[in-house]
Amino acid sequence: MREPVYLDYNATAPARPEVIAAVTEAMALPGNPSSVHTAGRQARRAVEDARAQVARMVGTIAPNVVFTSGATEANNIALRGWDRPMRVLTSSVEHPSVIEALEAERIPVTSTGLLDLDALRALLEKPNDRQALVSVMLVNNETGVIQPMAEIIALAREYDAVLHCDAVQAAGKLPLDFDESGLDLLSLSGHKIGGPKGIGALVVNPKHHIRSLIHGGGQEKGRRSGTENVAGCVGFGVAAEIALEEIEKQSHYKDLRDRLETAVSKALPQVVVIGDGAERVGTVTCLALPGVGSETQVMAMDLAGIAISAGSACSSGKVKRSQVVSAMGYGDEIAGSSIRVSLGWATTEADIDRFVEAYVAFAGRQVAATG
Ligand code: PMP
Repeated sequence: MREPVYLDYNATAPARPEVIAAVTEAMALPGNPSSVHTAGRQARRAVEDARAQVARMVGTIAPNVVFTSGATEANNIALRGWDRPMRVLTSSVEHPSVIEALEAERIPVTSTGLLDLDALRALLEKPNDRQALVSVMLVNNETGVIQPMAEIIALAREYDAVLHCDAVQAAGKLPLDFDESGLDLLSLSGHKIGGPKGIGALVVNPKHHIRSLIHGGGQEKGRRSGTENVAGCVGFGVAAEIALEEIEKQSHYKDLRDRLETAVSKALPQVVVIGDGAERVGTVTCLALPGVGSETQVMAMDLAGIAISAGSACSSGKVKRSQVVSAMGYGDEIAGSSIRVSLGWATTEADIDRFVEAYVAFAGRQVAATG
C-alpha cells in the first residue's frame, strides 16, 4: 500500500509539528487565565502572547483580536452580535457559517466567481432604515477566487456600510493589513493554517461594540464568554507566526497547482476549471468532470489513497451539489460533478503527480464504462 496523499487542506490543514509541540506544552499549564495567582497569570501570558501573534498575522493590535471556538462562531458574532438590527448583505458564495447565520440579501457573483460590484451598488442604493452590514469573503474555500476587496471596501464606505470579511482561506496566502484596510470585522480559523481545530478569532475594529452570543463570565472583554482555550490559542499563535512566512511560498504552490491543472486538462479536455480567469490563490483547484458525480470522484480517489473533497465539504460527510459553483451560474451537471483539490505546507510534486495519475485513470474508466 502506498503512502496516503492528503490534498484537502481547505477542509483542514495537518497541524504543523511546531504547533503540536507548543500545544502539548501549553496543555501542562495548570492555571485558568482569569485567576490572579501565579499559575493563572502564566496561562494569561500564554493567551496574550498568542493574541499578539495572531494580531501580527493580520496587521492589527492584540486588543482587537477576540478568540472564539472557530471561524463559524466568529462569523456568527460578526453578523449577529449587534445591539441594533442591521441590514445584512452577503455574497452568494459565502461559507455556510455566513449563509446560514441569518436571513440576508444576497449579492450575486459573476461566472468566474467575482462579486458583482454593480449589483452591490444597486443594493446599497436602495433606501433602508437600517445600517448595511456587508459580508464578503476574501478567498473562496472551494475555488480560491480572490475578491476585489479594496473596491468592495470603497463601495461600502460610500454608503456608510459596515464591512465584515471572512478571511479564513486567505490567511497565510495573502498579506493582510486589517488596520490599513478599512475593514470593520475579520474572521479567522486556526485549523486552516496548520493550527488546532476548534480555535479561531474575530478581529474587531474598536469603534464597534460587538456582543457575545455566548453569555457567562465575560471573558474576552465581554465579547466571548467562556474560559479561553489556552492550548488552542497557543497553537493558533504559533501557526499564525509561521503563516506569515508562508505567503512568500505562494508562487511555489501556484506552480504545483498549475502542474496539476495543466496535466489534467491535457489528458481530460472535458474538465472545467471553475474560477479560471479570475485571480486565485495557488493552493486550490476546483475541477468539474461533467457526467460523473462529485461523490463518485471523491470515493474513487479515496480508494486510490488520495483525500480530496467535493463541494463545501465542511458538513457532516455529506456531499451535494456545490452551492458555490451553482451561484457562479453553472447548471447541475457541472455543479454536481465538481471536486476540490487543495494543497499546503506538506504537499510535494509527487503528491500532485499521484493525484493526476489516479484521476486520469479513473476518468478514463468512467468514459469506457459509459461510452
Ligand atoms: N469560512 C470559511 C471560508 C471556511 O472555509 C471555513 C471552514 N470550512 C469556515 C468559515 C469555518 O471555520 P471553522 O471550521 O473554524 O468553524
